[in-house]
Amino acid sequence: MGLLALGTALDWPEAKKQAHLVRSWGIRQLLEIWNKAKGKERDAMLWGDEVEYLVVIYSKDDPKVLLSLRQADILEALANDKTIGKEGCTPTLPDGSNDEAHYSYRLNQPFPVFHPEFGRFMLEATPGKPWGIDFKELLKVEPNMKLRRCIAKDHMLPNEYPITLTTFPRLGSPGVFTEPFYPVSGPKLRSQFVPDEIANPHIRFPTLAANIRSRRGRKVQVNVPVYRDVETPWPWKDPTVNYDLHQWPEDDDVRNGAAPDNFIHMDAMAFGMGSCCLQITFQAKNLTEGRQMYDQLSPLGPILLALTAATPIYKGFLADTDVRWNQISRAVDDRTPEELGEKPLQNDRWRIPKSRYASNSTYISEDRRLRPEYLDPDLVIDESIKQQLLDGGMDDRLATHFAHLFIRDPIVIFSEDLKELDLNKTDHFENIQSTNWQHMRFKPPPADNSIGWRVEFRPMEIQITDFENAAFAVFMVLITRVILSFDLNFYIPIGKVDENMETAHARDAVLTRKFHFRRNLFPAVRASRGSSSGSSTPTGTASRPPSPVGPVEDEYRLMSVNEIINGTAYAKAFSQQQRQEDNNHVPEDDEFPGLIPLVESYLDSVNVDVVTRCELETYLDLIRKRASGELWTTAKWIRHFVGCHPDYKKDSVVSERITKDLVEAVVRIGQCEAKGKGFGELYGPGGEVPDFERLMGRHR
Ligand code: ADP
Ligand code: MG
Ligand code: MG
Ligand code: MG
Ligand code: MG
Ligand code: MG
Repeated sequence: MGLLALGTALDWPEAKKQAHLVRSWGIRQLLEIWNKAKGKERDAMLWGDEVEYLVVIYSKDDPKVLLSLRQADILEALANDKTIGKEGCTPTLPDGSNDEAHYSYRLNQPFPVFHPEFGRFMLEATPGKPWGIDFKELLKVEPNMKLRRCIAKDHMLPNEYPITLTTFPRLGSPGVFTEPFYPVSGPKLRSQFVPDEIANPHIRFPTLAANIRSRRGRKVQVNVPVYRDVETPWPWKDPTVNYDLHQWPEDDDVRNGAAPDNFIHMDAMAFGMGSCCLQITFQAKNLTEGRQMYDQLSPLGPILLALTAATPIYKGFLADTDVRWNQISRAVDDRTPEELGEKPLQNDRWRIPKSRYASNSTYISEDRRLRPEYLDPDLVIDESIKQQLLDGGMDDRLATHFAHLFIRDPIVIFSEDLKELDLNKTDHFENIQSTNWQHMRFKPPPADNSIGWRVEFRPMEIQITDFENAAFAVFMVLITRVILSFDLNFYIPIGKVDENMETAHARDAVLTRKFHFRRNLFPAVRASRGSSSGSSTPTGTASRPPSPVGPVEDEYRLMSVNEIINGTAYAKAFSQQQRQEDNNHVPEDDEFPGLIPLVESYLDSVNVDVVTRCELETYLDLIRKRASGELWTTAKWIRHFVGCHPDYKKDSVVSERITKDLVEAVVRIGQCEAKGKGFGELYGPGGEVPDFERLMGRHR
């Protein structure tokens, strides 16, 4: 998130008055870049990842782990020291050693880019420049992620560590969880659980939180179902909620029912935007390909969310869900009671079914395979904005997408930016665009048109190790190449993608749930789009003749993640081997090839050297085994860690001691990985991290 220049941020009542102006200027800026960039061709197939970290304070002898709020100091230290492999920055390993050989790759690495994030205990890091098309680039990702972590650590205090848990298990729990400590509650968040100082102090962030709250007319309500264990009192009342506060009007929220039974109750943006994720941005060769990538990756979002599940704990309790998504959605839900449908429409323009952080609402490609039935007939759009875009030369479908994003108000407005419209900037457009957090983002080129049309894949949860993060990043890159080279068709009705997103929240959804997924991914054999060159059918996978267009409902069916990722044949064989009941009686003509076998076919069809192929195989193997259940998701491993801990009383409470031991395990995993020697010693005498092999497999 690029920081806007400092200025005077308007409070909500003032910002609201300027919302229309910002939207109309934003649309003019969008049209400007549209007209400049719509004909851009032959942009390189670049891509880049983003990794987010929590900064924790941990030492062996201290019974507590805390979140460090030194983001600004750490970023400043990083900004003042940008040399790698030269004097000034020799990454020191977390164990204090200085393994030159292991860091030899750093000599050819540009300095990574570190970014601030919403939480003052967070950091984001991206590679110094985007990755290229070469397969060898895929092998640079993991060392680069390790380098980033190492450099970050190098600019922290000895007891501070960058860790990649999605959430801090005891964020918002009673007592002290930050260093320094700040009391609740502050004027911006008005949270009874976290102080205002939890947010990045740059005025943009507290204003974002305060104006969302103000627009809603009450605090955000982030309620996540608590996991019911054998000793969990039932009905369960969140014991950390204070019903007797009378400092802010919003203190009434809990007295008005904001904290229902059997839910962990949270009341501030930090509980959502304080979570870490893994994002991948792809540059397309042109606009058409960008729109195709956006649509085709969209149905994969929920599958990858389930597969990367890593968020089973909130505010010191086990949750009954495994992923962060809905919590972030609720943490930034600025809808008014009218928009939510709780009151008749009077002052607001629409009822809006989703938060501004939510799964994709529409498809954007002009692909002729996109049947009208896949689109949401009730999509809320701003008709006058759509008309402006059409008048400006944009096609109907893309105009619809942006006219949907632009139903939202800009939340943070700086008065200095309202003096005159600058068509050489995209600030007003980005104001709306960057606060529409869908699971994909379609990124137009910047105002100077220097780079191409990009598509961002946003649903994945961050993983504990860089090996896993690299595996998921690489897998998504390969899938994207497969989609483009085989011209695959993943379309299902967009409402089914929404449904899948909900399904992905279930505990261990990978193994316990099924997802709507398209049966036949292959293009029609005869009538392929445009030229028939460029699209081939992968060897070894059955391609059927095009079926005549039938009911949309026949095009997809429910599949397990194992079937989707590994294919029906593998899933069946695996369940037999595991002596599991095979309740997927897949009719022969309903065999699904699986995404990993498609990636393998693709790799077979291009020239990849043996060494690269073997390395890529270790990544694919992780994905394969996570999908089959042979390896566990991070969420499952964390649940297991808590469940086996001697301090756990089977009452859903994740105590300070458990949190400390969990963070210690994660820090140890990081130290082991940084040494570049795999995880061997995590199994060794005295160095065990409980059941770590179930997460990673023994051979890592
Ligand atoms: P945001 O936070 O807005 O998503 P960031 O700048 O933090 O954006 O990260 C975007 C990612 O896109 C980074 O990994 C970066 O390396 C990558 N990237 C930058 N330029 C390009 C490009 N032209 N094509 C593809 N990826 C790019
Ligand atoms: Mg970023
Ligand atoms: Mg960002
Ligand atoms: Mg971002
Ligand atoms: Mg980020
Ligand atoms: Mg991003």
